[in-house]
Amino acid sequence: MSTHKAHCLILPYPVQGHINPMLQFSKRLQSKCVKITIAPTKSFLKNMKELPTSVSIEAISDGYDDDGINQAKTYESYLARFKEVGSDTLAQLIQKLAKSGCHVNCIVYDPFLPWAVEVAKQFGLISAAFFTQNCVVDNIYYHVHKGVIKLPPTKNDEKILIPGLSCTIESSDVPSFESSPESDKLVELLVNQFSNLDKVDWVLINSFYELEKEVIDWMSKIYPIKTIGPTIPSMYLDKRLHDDKEYGLSMFKPMTNECLNWLNHQPISSVLYVSFGSLAKLGSEQMEELAWGLKNSNKSFLWVVRSTEESKLPKNFLEELKLTSDNNKGLVVSWCPQLQVLEHESIGCFLTHCGWNSTLEAISLGVPMVTMPQWSDQPTNAKLVKDVWEIGVRAKQDEKGIVRREVIEECIKLVMEEDKGKLIRENAKKWKEIARNVVDEGGSSDKNIEEFVSKLMTISSK
Ligand code: UDP
Repeated sequence: MSTHKAHCLILPYPVQGHINPMLQFSKRLQSKCVKITIAPTKSFLKNMKELPTSVSIEAISDGYDDDGINQAKTYESYLARFKEVGSDTLAQLIQKLAKSGCHVNCIVYDPFLPWAVEVAKQFGLISAAFFTQNCVVDNIYYHVHKGVIKLPPTKNDEKILIPGLSCTIESSDVPSFESSPESDKLVELLVNQFSNLDKVDWVLINSFYELEKEVIDWMSKIYPIKTIGPTIPSMYLDKRLHDDKEYGLSMFKPMTNECLNWLNHQPISSVLYVSFGSLAKLGSEQMEELAWGLKNSNKSFLWVVRSTEESKLPKNFLEELKLTSDNNKGLVVSWCPQLQVLEHESIGCFLTHCGWNSTLEAISLGVPMVTMPQWSDQPTNAKLVKDVWEIGVRAKQDEKGIVRREVIEECIKLVMEEDKGKLIRENAKKWKEIARNVVDEGGSSDKNIEEFVSKLMTISSK
């Protein structure tokens, strides 16, 4: 007989940075006797190098089963077809599960796919939107949705006043999509996250109360918000879920042994870890500046350069690294086990694009940051890291939009060596402790998850 008292169907947007947090939240729910079925797209599943074994997976279709968004010509056509085919195949899945005796009670959906609420209503199910960005970023999109502010901001809008935020936001701090040819459509996608939100039962956010108190209090007056993060594997935080050591889902194969063997030979807090996540593409000029900035900092570094990016490295860079008197100075890999790396005692700083997952992972593992945001919510995350949580510095671009080697070198030294860096390093340790406590028994996120589960059980027993 099943021990599950409720069944959640999880509908993620098919990119790694969105699926991972929903998967981790699912593991927490499952540990509290909620049955989970995750429904990614067929094309996403095809491209995975690793899949989780702990939850059940049932594919739906975005209408592009061979290669997903790469097969669609534009975001606009992709999202339109996903809505049409996705609604149908999601409805079929709910019916199929019901026939097999596994009735779904609740859909937890990524608000990039707001049509999921209509499907939930069609079957009388409750719905929860799961935001993979933090609450400050969500608040900015909310105000764009309401017409209070514009993205991109008008040029003379140097300081932008946003209700619910106590810090001053400048135009370089707001989410930016200008590097994409479809920037208007992307802003629309982000802003549309709010389009069905007045109909949902819960709004879940991958963040935690202590990190963003004021804005969470402000937004909670409008939406039924529950912060449930950080959604990183339990063994890096509260250690209550013994099997939860990794996300278990990856588009790339990590060079685990190579990275850990190398890190094991480095002194404590001596290594700079550098990564721009799974999507960012730096221009060749930026790549060159970064390469020499790292080398000139004279710190040992572990740099993730995805294989599709490798051709942009300066021609002689890898060779020069090997030829230096101390050829242990740098290791370049195509992908690494980031959590294991950030947790390693040899790591002293993280040079990051400030994707929200990477930022939350660095916070959770107490690693101070040098930020080099590229687009999307990354500039806002970088602002919070530097000015609100004071756990890093931002390497500023010049008027051509390039961060120069001298700036990179200076920022690395500031965080890893100097007096100001000492405060940043101490703050990072403080946030690590808080992040662990919020998911542990009785912490703010744990209480919110408990409350979500208990309401779910009550509703599903009716
Ligand atoms: N990541 C990893 N190995 C790497 C680089 C990144 O496992 O070499 C993971 C990282 O831990 C994070 C995710 O990839 O969970 C990146 O997500 P993020 O939101 O930071 O950036 P995105 O890839 O969405 O831009």
